[in-house]
This record gives sequence, C-alpha cells and structure tokens, in this order.
Amino acid sequence: MSRRAVVIGAGLAGMLAAAALSTVADEVVVLDRDDLPDGPEHRRGLPQGRHAHLLMAGGLASMEDLVPGVSMGKHLLAAGAHEIPLGSGMVALTPEGWLRRWRRPGPRMLTCTRALLDWAVRGAVLDNTGVVIRKARVLELTGSRERVTGVRLSAAAGDEELPADFVVDASGRGSRIVTWLAGLGIDDVREKTVDAGLVNATRLYRTPEGAGRFPLAMVQADPYQGRPGRSGMVLPIEGDRWMVSLAGTRGGGEPPSDPDAFLRYTLDLPDPIVGRLISGAQPLTDVHVSRSTSNHRRYLERVRPWPERLVVLGDALATFNPAYGQGMSVAALGARELGGELRRAGLAGPGLARRVQRRAARSVQAAWTMAVSQDVWFPGTRGGSPGAADRLVTAYTRRMIRTATGSYPAASALWDVMSMTTGPARLLRPSTVLATLSGPPLPPAAGAPLTQEEREILKGLDRTGR
Ligand SMILES: Cc1cc2nc3c(=O)[nH]c(=O)nc-3n(C[C@H](O)[C@H](O)[C@H](O)COP(=O)(O)OP(=O)(O)OC[C@H]3O[C@@H](n4cnc5c(N)ncnc54)[C@H](O)[C@@H]3O)c2cc1C
Repeated sequence: MSRRAVVIGAGLAGMLAAAALSTVADEVVVLDRDDLPDGPEHRRGLPQGRHAHLLMAGGLASMEDLVPGVSMGKHLLAAGAHEIPLGSGMVALTPEGWLRRWRRPGPRMLTCTRALLDWAVRGAVLDNTGVVIRKARVLELTGSRERVTGVRLSAAAGDEELPADFVVDASGRGSRIVTWLAGLGIDDVREKTVDAGLVNATRLYRTPEGAGRFPLAMVQADPYQGRPGRSGMVLPIEGDRWMVSLAGTRGGGEPPSDPDAFLRYTLDLPDPIVGRLISGAQPLTDVHVSRSTSNHRRYLERVRPWPERLVVLGDALATFNPAYGQGMSVAALGARELGGELRRAGLAGPGLARRVQRRAARSVQAAWTMAVSQDVWFPGTRGGSPGAADRLVTAYTRRMIRTATGSYPAASALWDVMSMTTGPARLLRPSTVLATLSGPPLPPAAGAPLTQEEREILKGLDRTGR
C-alpha cells in the first residue's frame, strides 16, 4: 500500500522535513498557502525574509545530511551566498569588548537573502527527491488523540480531506498547532513567551567599489546596562550587495524607518563602524521594519500521550529573538532528528513521533537558553525576569565572552556553541572553564580589529567626517 506523508509549510523546516520523509514515504506532499516564487524573490508568507538571516554551521551541517546527493553548502555558495569564517571574517563588538580575529578561521556561517536560501533549498529538494508542492491552506488535523491520519485543507477547488500516514507541521510562527491539537482532544500544551519587544529595520545597499572583501561588521546589543538594547550589522549578500540590519528592544531602542534616522541610529551605536561603512554607500531599497520577534515556545515534548504520526518542527515549535541567528539551524537540526528516526524505525515505528519531538526539544532548549538568558535583562521584557539561575549563567557567560575577546580557546568554544555545532555543555568543558577563570591572555582591543588595508577602505568610505 502506498504511504503518503504530508508536510504543512514549504519554508525551510518544511522542505527539509520533506527531504527526510522522501527516503521512506512513497509520496511526500508539501502544502503551502502561499504562491512560491520561481526565483530568489521575497514572498508575503515570510515577512521576516527581508531581514538578515545568518545560517550557522550547525544548521548547514544538518542540511548536508538531509538532501540526498547534494552538498547544500556548495549549492548555496554557487547560488551567490557568502561564507564567513567566524574567527577571521568578522569584526564584532560584544558587550565585553571587540572579539579579536585569528589566523584559524573557526566555524563558517553563510550569508545571503532569505529569499535566495529558501529558493535554493526548495530547488535542491524538488530536484533530488520525489517531493511535490501543492498550494493549499491547512485548516485542521484529522485523526484522534492517539494518531493523526491526515489534514483538512482549503484549495482553489474547495475544502477537502487529505489522508496521510505521517504529518509534519512546519507552518511557522503563526502555526495553529495548539488549536489543531485541541481539536483532537489534546488541550494541555504548555506555552511560554519572553518578549523583549524587539524591532528590526533593514536596508540594502550596493557594496561600494573595493569593499567586497571587508569583513562582516557587527555591534551587538548590551543587555546588562539597564537600557534598551540597540544593535546593527553589515553583511555581504548575493549580487554585490550589503544588507544592513538594525535591531532594538522596547522602550527607546527601536530602530526607525526614516532613512536619515536609520543612519543616525547606526552612528549612535557604541561604535559607529556600521554607519561609517554605509554613510556614502548607495541605498537600493527603503528601510523595512518588522516586529513580532519574541521568544515563544510550545513544550510539545511534554504532552502525553503524544499522537502517533505527527511531528512539529521549526518556528511552529519554537521561535527565538533573531539576534542570535538560530531559528533556521534549530529547524534543520529538528529535521535531521526526524530523518535519523525514520531511517531507524520507518514511517510507522511506534512512538517515533514522540521520540523526534523529544530529540528536537534539545536544540530548542539550547537556543532558548542562549536567547532568553540575555533577553530577560533588557528593561521592559515581558514574560521573564532574571532569576538566580540566569544570574549565575550570566556571570559565567560574561566572563567567558570577556575572555574570548583575547583568548583563542575561549573564542573557539563560544563560536562552537553560537554556531550550534556543539551543545552548550561545550562551555563547561574543563579546558573552557580553565581559560575562562584565567581571563584573557591578550589585552582588550582598543578598536575594531581591522587590517591596515581595511582601515584604509573604511576611511575611504566614511562620509561622516569622523
Ligand atoms: C527578523 C528576523 C530575523 C531572523 N534572522 C535569523 C537568522 O539570522 N538566522 C536564523 O537561523 N534564523 C533567523 N530568523 C528565524 C527564521 O526566520 C525562522 O526560524 C525560520 O523562518 C523558520 O522556518 P520555518 O520553515 O519553521 O517557518 P517559515 O519560514 O515561517 O515557513 C512557514 C511556511 O508555512 C506556510 N504556512 C503557514 N500556515 C500555513 C497553513 N495553514 N497551511 C499551509 N501553509 C502554511 C507559510 O506560507 C510559510 O511558507 C529570523 C527571524 C526573524 C523574525
């Protein structure tokens, strides 16, 4: 008998889950309510797609495992993405000072527009598997609290039921999964929101002549001063463009949409490097502003009994303050867990869905802790305030980051965790603890760690008269 899997949502989590399912199902149908563009274009269903999307090494490594016969890294680079080694290709001002740059590159992240990333991943999955995409909005799940048997959907021809042997909800942060579960008789889902009131503002610029190899520049928000967070970064994207993304928290940190105020905001950050870089650059778009970037978590791994044949991944499961660049990697890590369990137990393995949900919760927990333990310090954050555990984690993390500004072992531990190539336990390895307790062997850098050539480029671009 033919086995059909249905995936709700053709975003990153949905396409990667579909790739995993394609190895065991006879038919994989991805349903999306949106018209999906044929090229790397922005679409309505992905409003966050206008803002910076850093793909961390851990997320990329998971993707490499998921799509048969494709090196996703090479595929994305060929499509125009940039590769940034965290150790040598980035200048970042943290709340504890500038991170030094090292000869050893460290983990690499990819930068490009979200439109390019989704288009390239979708294309790779469609070209290398039997997965098909259908335009339809899912209305609810069918089945019982013991087992999901399909979905009810609305399409151009009207409403219909689509039976399925397996269903993945990857419908993003607006997922109606809690309501859908209630429809099956499951109404004990615990949820939590921690909201720093983050606002994102992004504008694209033409990369100025001669600045193509300038490192990614980032000024991070400082949660520990009792003031709203303000941050900014310039990252290279496809098509010889810079994406300039600003983010700030509730109560005065919010970045503006007015172009002049946008530039002023960058110059008022604790270091004006972002503003100096773009002060003479040619803007290619308006400033796009978005809200709704809270940390939100659904503790589905705690629901008992969890229905067979239903898995929830990506933003439908949890969202994080995007400043930490983790959502897509968590989605990819979750899809990899699904793939691993499917290979071991097949589509119909008893308890498989619950096992995937519990395994996916591990990377959610890691990302959640990283984001929330900092967000609770911003004034006006709703849904959480620093507790005893946060104070302890914060004291250690701050000391570690201070050490990382001048110690390769500490910096490398930080990059591994940030890039989700290892779990947070890496920060407690004896070598990292020792380095942290000893403090940075090198003194703090006085300014952005630029080469002489890069300093010349910055000076040449700067129209601020500083
Ligand atoms: C401003 C901002 C910046 C970010 N920056 C980063 C970053 O730097 N790095 C990073 O890793 N992450 C980042 N993220 C997070 C990242 O955007 C998400 O984690 C990622 O999009 C999750 O993918 P997804 O597939 O789960 O959901 P989505 O990409 O939102 O896809 C959901 C899909 O489901 C479809 N859909 C919804 N409802 C239905 C329905 N009922 N029926 C059918 N289809 C439906 C939608 O049309 C959409 O195509 C950022 C987020 C924001 C808001």
